[in-house]
Amino acid sequence: MAAGRYAPSPTSDLHIGNLRTAVLAWLFARSTGRAFLLRVEDLDTDRVRAADGTEARQLADLARLGLDFDGDPVRQSQRLDKYAAAVASLDDRVYECFCTRREIAEAASAPHETRDGFRPYPGTCRDLTEAERTERRRTRRGALRIRADEAWMTITDDIAGRISGPVDDFVLRRGDGVWAYNLAVVVDDLAMGVDQVVRGDDLLSSAPRQAWLAQQLGGTVPAYAHVPLVVNADGVRLAKRDGAISLTELAASGRDVAWVLRWIGESLGLSAGGEQVTPELLLERFDPAALPREPSVFRVGS
Ligand code: GLU
Repeated sequence: MAAGRYAPSPTSDLHIGNLRTAVLAWLFARSTGRAFLLRVEDLDTDRVRAADGTEARQLADLARLGLDFDGDPVRQSQRLDKYAAAVASLDDRVYECFCTRREIAEAASAPHETRDGFRPYPGTCRDLTEAERTERRRTRRGALRIRADEAWMTITDDIAGRISGPVDDFVLRRGDGVWAYNLAVVVDDLAMGVDQVVRGDDLLSSAPRQAWLAQQLGGTVPAYAHVPLVVNADGVRLAKRDGAISLTELAASGRDVAWVLRWIGESLGLSAGGEQVTPELLLERFDPAALPREPSVFRVGS
């Protein structure tokens, strides 16, 4: 069955911007007759451990908003063998890389950054000999990269339109042994039958790489909708440091779940004038073509 998904990282409580993106992912999925799945992106164990209990609070907050999911949450930390199998299937296109960030930044041959700050991996470790690799392994555990042969990929996004981007030899497994976000997302979306990816537009620049990897793994590229983020009064992407922005914090300042849903409805142009809304009401009115294309401003505490 076709499916959409919401895939939070359980590193801090969801804030009103995250919740708005979750509502949008739900609206896109349900308005197109898709299942709606939840995936917990908990691979970065240090960050997740530091945020103990966050996953349960995230799931509870999504339920409090009235979003329903199909099936049980999928946890990336329980799928490590799937990432290993996917990388094994890519076989000799995967190579070890011993570069530090700094070495990559300083590589004399590094091509200039593209407009959005994308800095392609300069290929330093691409053709090491076995002897060179053995030598480097003595001092450092290598990351794993995919040989992309300077591919170029175009995706179609429901909001951003056609987006083209270079695909460099990106990381599949980090030097600390953690499977990389770009790998896990693609492996999981394929395995879960996700054919519609709705998420914040901060991830738009990752989409060409991920779409390309989906093809390399024999899968189909999903439909994409990268939605504008919520920003603070300074126009900066909303973040934990902005203060009272999670459901619990907002409730403490008198802004209950009903208020949050009203704010989301109004920010999406689907309701007005303090009208009380439910996800179902927003669904009746949802029209992707009419969505605001600009970031929504959330004024904390005013
Ligand atoms: N886990 C990512 C995040 O919380 C989202 C990944 C995705 O939707 O592809 O930003």
